[in-house]
Amino acid sequence: MVIAIDGPAGSGKSTIARLLAERLNFTYINSGNLYRAITLRCLRKHISPTDPEKALACAREAYIDYQGQQVLLDGEVVDSLLHSDEIDAWVAQLSAIVPIRHVVNDLIRKIAQGKHVVVEGRDITTVVFPDAEYRFFLDASPESRARRRYLQGISQLSLEEIADGIRKRDEIDRNKAEGSLKIADGVVYLDTSDLTIEQVYDRLIEKIQI
Ligand code: C5P
Repeated sequence: MVIAIDGPAGSGKSTIARLLAERLNFTYINSGNLYRAITLRCLRKHISPTDPEKALACAREAYIDYQGQQVLLDGEVVDSLLHSDEIDAWVAQLSAIVPIRHVVNDLIRKIAQGKHVVVEGRDITTVVFPDAEYRFFLDASPESRARRRYLQGISQLSLEEIADGIRKRDEIDRNKAEGSLKIADGVVYLDTSDLTIEQVYDRLIEKIQI
C-alpha cells in the first residue's frame, strides 16, 4: 500500500508523513531528502548542482538508501546535514534537472517495492505513484510556512529571508517539472495553517482504511 503526500516546504508534510509511518508501521520515504543528499554529494565533490551532466553523473554514482527513517549516502547517515541553508539554496535547481528526477523516481520505486510506504514530496501523487491507494496534498499560507521553518531553529537566516527563500523555491518547484506541486483530481487537499499536528493527523487517518 502506498500513502502519497505532496505539498510545499513548511506545509507540515514531513512531520505528518513521519508520524503516519511510525504509527502504521510503514516504511517512510522523504523524496526531498533524496534530492538533498544528491545536492550534498555534488557540493562535497565541488560539482555545481546546476551543471546538468556532472550533477547527473554524481547522482548516478551515489549510493543512497534508507536506514529506518534516516538517509544513507554512500554508507553515511547524513540527515543532520541535509537542511543547511546552502542545500536549501541549491536543491530546487538540482531537482529541476529532468534526468536526475528519473534517477530519484526509480530509486523511490525500488525502495518502496513490496512494502507498505508513506512517500512525501512534490510529485508523488502525480508522477511517482499516481495510482497510490491514498493521495494527499498539504498546504499552508506562506507566512505560517516561513514561521515553522524559522521556529525549527536550524536556519541562520531571519524570518523575512526565510520567507523570501521559500517564495523563490516555490516558484522554481511550480514551474520545473510535469506534475510538480500540482493538485491532481481525486487528491485530498488540506490547508494546515491553523491546524495542530494531531489535527492534521486525525484528518488524514480518518480517510485511511488499513
Ligand atoms: O521536501 P523538501 O523541501 O525537503 O524538498 C527539497 C527540494 O527538493 C524542494 O524544494 C524541491 O525543489 C525538491 N523536490 C522535488 N520533488 C520532490 C521532492 C522535493 O523537486 N518530489
